[in-house]
Amino acid sequence: MKLKIRTGFGYDVHQLQEGLDFWLGGIKIPHTHGALGHSDADVLIHVICDALLGAANMRDIGYHFSDRDPQYKGIDSKILLKEVMHLLSREGYEIGNIDSTICLQEPKVNPHIPAMKKCLAEVMGIPEHDISIKATTTEHLGFVGKKEGVAAFATVLIVKQ
Ligand SMILES: [Zn+2]
Repeated sequence: MKLKIRTGFGYDVHQLQEGLDFWLGGIKIPHTHGALGHSDADVLIHVICDALLGAANMRDIGYHFSDRDPQYKGIDSKILLKEVMHLLSREGYEIGNIDSTICLQEPKVNPHIPAMKKCLAEVMGIPEHDISIKATTTEHLGFVGKKEGVAAFATVLIVKQ
């Protein structure tokens, strides 16, 4: 039988505001500011969800979990990611690998990456080795550099046996 390999891409941005919890990659990052959103505004999980849905040609995160639906207000994005995994496995897809980049001026993301990988691997039920998380600043340029927001990108490969 032919092996079917598909690729997907995700991009997302959230505003940063003082005094909010900062959820990133499924964990809470200690910081003065946090991301603003209808859910917990976890930008890394959102791009992974969008990349997975895109790879399966199943629309995007906003289509499945509307930001106008009160049941998703403040929701833990890990629940959304689990649901996306269910949608994909129902179609017979397994994850090949995930590669992602978080764009944030501060705080430093690198020290938190091992904990994020561990958390996401548990939620998705895949090996940590299949999840790559990278971080970059934008050298003080643009909305990321001015600490007004956080952005992220992800690509994924999914495989149908
Ligand atoms: Zn988002």
